[in-house]
Amino acid sequence: MTTQDYICLRCSRVYPTCCRLKPGLEELCFPLSRQEQKNIQNHLLHSDFFVEQSNTAKFISTMGRLLPDHYQKTRSIFTPDTCHLRLKTLSDGKCILLQDDGCLLPRHMRPFYCRLFPFWFYRGRLGYMASRECLAQQETREVKNLLKLFRAEVSALQADYYSMLRNLGLND
Ligand code: SF4
Ligand code: SF4
Repeated sequence: MTTQDYICLRCSRVYPTCCRLKPGLEELCFPLSRQEQKNIQNHLLHSDFFVEQSNTAKFISTMGRLLPDHYQKTRSIFTPDTCHLRLKTLSDGKCILLQDDGCLLPRHMRPFYCRLFPFWFYRGRLGYMASRECLAQQETREVKNLLKLFRAEVSALQADYYSMLRNLGLND
């Protein structure tokens, strides 16, 4: 078990974790690219894990806030009259791929967004998405300590982040 799995396992004993959203907020679930969908489908030999979600005003504004460096591109790709792809969630908000013992996917097959969380890049600088229900953030709020806690490498996070953008067509 990796250090990341360990902190996340401990988190799952006290919090809903980042694999479960608040029911009613499905529209804000992070989008999945067609390539990620294809990889997951090929790995699990199943195609019923995905849903087309309309680009609501709230979703579009959240994407703009999360990706300020790609604001224009975000607006041009996620237009109000179209949809994006996301993983299905159950009625309690749980990701369809979440099992009792964790994610059904090995880490390298998970969506980029899942691999990154809670890390994120703002204006090219590594930061993290603040969440009161992330146990790792309760243990430390310093990026450098979070990196240690997850045994994450900035270069690997950067590679995942830019691959995520490229796959979603958001690279400028
Ligand atoms: S794909 Fe896996 S890591 Fe991502 S939200 Fe679903 S269960 Fe969690
Ligand atoms: S919320 Fe934080 S500690 Fe909890 S599972 Fe997600 S990344 Fe791990």
